[in-house]
Amino acid sequence: MAKKNQQKKVSGWEYSPSPESTSHISLKKRYQLYINGEWVNPTGERYFPSVNPATEEVIAEVSYADQTDVDKAVIAARKAYEEVWSKLSSAERGKYIYRIARMMQERARELAVIETMDGGKPIRESRDIDVPLACNHFFYYAGWADKLEYAFPNRKAKPLGVVGQIIPWNFPLLMAAWKIAPALAAGNTVVLKPAETTSLTALKLAEIIHDSGLPPGVVNIVTGFGDTGAAIVNHKDINKIAFTGSTDVGKIIQRAVAGTSKKLTLELGGKSANIIFEDAPIDEAVEGIINGIFFNQGHVCCAGSRLFVQESVADKVIRKLKHRISSLKVGDPLDKNTDIGAINSKAQLETIRKYIEIGKREGAEFYQPDCAIPGTGYFCPPTLFSNVAQSSIIAQEEIFGPVLTIQTFRTVDEVLQKANNTPYGLAAGVWTDKGSRIFNLTTKLRAGVVWANTYNKFDPASPFGGYKESGFGREGGLHGLEAYVKLS
Ligand code: NDP
Repeated sequence: MAKKNQQKKVSGWEYSPSPESTSHISLKKRYQLYINGEWVNPTGERYFPSVNPATEEVIAEVSYADQTDVDKAVIAARKAYEEVWSKLSSAERGKYIYRIARMMQERARELAVIETMDGGKPIRESRDIDVPLACNHFFYYAGWADKLEYAFPNRKAKPLGVVGQIIPWNFPLLMAAWKIAPALAAGNTVVLKPAETTSLTALKLAEIIHDSGLPPGVVNIVTGFGDTGAAIVNHKDINKIAFTGSTDVGKIIQRAVAGTSKKLTLELGGKSANIIFEDAPIDEAVEGIINGIFFNQGHVCCAGSRLFVQESVADKVIRKLKHRISSLKVGDPLDKNTDIGAINSKAQLETIRKYIEIGKREGAEFYQPDCAIPGTGYFCPPTLFSNVAQSSIIAQEEIFGPVLTIQTFRTVDEVLQKANNTPYGLAAGVWTDKGSRIFNLTTKLRAGVVWANTYNKFDPASPFGGYKESGFGREGGLHGLEAYVKLS
């Protein structure tokens, strides 16, 4: 009913609901841990619910792995590394990775629906972006498995051994692919922990990996909470930690790994600048701003969450932006019309609301379209704050939700100073008609990725990663492969 009202109010006509079917998916009531090629109960027999954030219903129970379970997973990974995986020819390794990619493609619809149910993202995004990109990462790295001597010419690339990988809740399957595919291609074995609110697609991936015939112990999936992740980080027999998540936890991990021989890559938070010059194609730029901040409800480490608009076009851009966000559909993530799905968890919704209150208190101009949102589930309307001060908390801290701060600028120097004035440095966007200005800014913006006249474009062949408190190391492309080898 709430949805009907929303559709009437916003667009003047009604979209017929277009929900994706869930009849083709299979979910167990309870998931065990995937260790050494087998499904096993957690030692402590503890389980926790995985909740659909759009309905608040429990969709499955997931195992809570403790130190003993992590030990078992690391022992299995070490044995598989020593006895099987490192002895296999690289071409054979590649075949397994290709097979996993193909099997993921075959089950793409099921993966997309479960990703949307477990995490709240719109089905259009999980279907058209998350799942195809995850498959493509496996395809891409499968291709490199037997070509390491070309990837690193005149050098010898050796695997690191057992790698521990900890991933967040915003792109659960995609992050699992970013981590597992290059690790396997380089000849390592893996212990991976998904985030507690979104374990299900990693567990479905474990089913696919099992069906692919990958030797037992090469990939182990242990679910749980922060202490499960900490048990992986502190395990003595792990050679590398790859982490994606918050800067706070990244710092804890960096401290834990300091002084050990473990390699580390950290992909952390961001507060990325999206910069619009007066000569930019404004309508395209508005679409880029929308995609930059509202993609995946703003749960994106590289979200273009700080908008900088050149003063001469600021009124026009803000007017168009307000008009555009009033047509965004907030609601059932499984509906193919939905633009903004559910916030991933109740806790994250509370965090976002806290920042919205801070923004209002700080005196920024607040705008939300007049849109109804469903009565159950965790939803947040698209939110704009204009006239934001550079020092304001909402312009400095990562909100990780559909909240955009808007600032203006007059000159290139001014916007460079403002854009770089952040503890983060993950991504940036520049919108202008002038190629020379793009080149000038891309060399001066302190960000790992800079998009020109577009935003949020990802490809397995291009590296991704940050500066400063956004972390270090790169994922994707050859840089991402290098993070999993020892070069001599
Ligand atoms: P976390 O950084 O806590 O979670 C990321 C992963 O690390 C999860 O698998 C988590 O497990 C695990 N973890 C938590 N504590 C430890 C630890 N001490 N040692 C090892 N692993 C650990 O992110 P949150 O889910 O708490 O989100 C908080 C904020 O972080 C968000 O509001 C957002 O701002 C930011 N964030 C940024 C992301 C990014 O991609 N840059 C991704 C996710 C969050 P578990 O889930 O079980 O706690």
